[in-house]
Amino acid sequence: MIEKRDFYINGAWVAPAVANDCDVINPSSEEVCAVISLGNQADTDAAVAAAKAAFPAWSTTTKEVRMAALERLLAAYNDRAEDMAQAISMEMGAPISMARTSQTTSGSWHLQGFIKAFETFEFDSMLRDDAPNDRILREAIGVCALITPWNWPMNQVMLKVAGALAAGCTMVLKPSEIAPLSSIVFTEIMDAADIPAGVYNMVHGDGMGVGSQLTVHPDVDMVSFTGSTRAGTAITKASADTIKRVALELGGKGANVIFADADEKAVKRGVLHMMNNTGQSCNAPSRMLVERSYYDQAVEIATETANKVAVGLASEEGRHMGPVVSEVQFDKIQALIQKGIDEGARVVAGGTGRPEGMNRGYFIRPTVFADVNSDMTIAREEIFGPVMAMIPFDTEEEAIAITNDTVYGLTNYVQTQDKTRAIRVARAIRSGMVEINGVGRSQGAPFGGYKQSGIGREGGHWGIEDFLETKSVGGWVE
Ligand code: NAD
Repeated sequence: MIEKRDFYINGAWVAPAVANDCDVINPSSEEVCAVISLGNQADTDAAVAAAKAAFPAWSTTTKEVRMAALERLLAAYNDRAEDMAQAISMEMGAPISMARTSQTTSGSWHLQGFIKAFETFEFDSMLRDDAPNDRILREAIGVCALITPWNWPMNQVMLKVAGALAAGCTMVLKPSEIAPLSSIVFTEIMDAADIPAGVYNMVHGDGMGVGSQLTVHPDVDMVSFTGSTRAGTAITKASADTIKRVALELGGKGANVIFADADEKAVKRGVLHMMNNTGQSCNAPSRMLVERSYYDQAVEIATETANKVAVGLASEEGRHMGPVVSEVQFDKIQALIQKGIDEGARVVAGGTGRPEGMNRGYFIRPTVFADVNSDMTIAREEIFGPVMAMIPFDTEEEAIAITNDTVYGLTNYVQTQDKTRAIRVARAIRSGMVEINGVGRSQGAPFGGYKQSGIGREGGHWGIEDFLETKSVGGWVE
């Protein structure tokens, strides 16, 4: 049993002000695998005070100093890659092979993207040639509270920590209390990378405790949050009294628009993308929209693909799908599958209950619904599990209308061999990201959403900008 109750404040591991044990559950076995402690107001205050004290020095370091810190972080992160993969796999159920090749590497991938963007980043510029005495300075916003979820733990921690570090901010990370082990390894990595004391602090806690304390704290200048729209709304309201900058990375209900002329692998690719990380991705293509002339064939391919998705323990090597993260998520997903059935959608793969032969662990059957329409709950709510809804459409206009008929606007997908149409649809879709014909976005591309999917962009150049203030100076003479 792992016991890790300490927090990391001002460059040292410290015991909680008052012990408040919290079990970490292994979702494959439903057993307790670790114990952490949840912080209280005194821990939050100590971490924020350390970040505040470190801000004047860190925010005025040169670009070279901060670049060197990012490079030390990358080296230290790569040194601990196996420990990171083991921690992620145990705490949130990613199969170990996938934890190594996707979950852990998502952190280093984003860090490399920041390093590339930072090389050419200008913190200091002229307004215009005809305004020689105007100077525009980009300065670190201050102390940042970084609040992260459990589904892609290092993807999200790195997008926040590396962006804030590069910008010259100091920070308090509050990782998900459901998946805190990877952030403990990450904090050891930050320590090994010799990030100056107080620049980075980490306190465990839940949303009601440390999470809420950070969002109302008078010495916190910005909250960067990833997680549910429910918590994002609460954080925005709580931050309003002290006018904090709030960056939000929230949910999604991605559409994957498949035209009849799509490449022959498009449907299979879409189903496998949906099942990746057991459907627990904000950018999951959870609504598959298919042109009617191709719809029946697409349903057949999707059924066959989903039926072939193996489900297994997170600790086992291989390409199978693991459990979902918790009992709460398991129950929520089961209820949504039942709701889909009750509202008249047709189950063509999977369904309620655990996969055959499994009676323990938060395992869900890879599920595909056909004949879904936009009024159904399964087409509107983010399920955050391995459940895909197939919706037929007749025209391009209708496909665009269905795609946009959601409160979310994170990532949508288009599959067609007609290049002009692909671009036309990509422009018409209201979302922060669009991917065409299975081609992902590159390192350093901005990640973020329209509408209720969030505010702000993470990663690369945009991910540094998010942590900066703009100062406009007149009368500048050199
Ligand atoms: P959550 O939003 O409740 O938790 C995410 C993080 O926010 C955690 O660190 C949590 O402690 C913290 N938090 C929660 N409430 C807070 C508050 N009021 N103030 C400050 N911090 C707060 O997510 P969850 O409960 O773990 O999952 C619930 C649902 O959220 C899922 O079913 C899924 O739909 C969605 N979700 C989305 C994403 C995403 O990437 N968009 C990630 C995780 C969960």
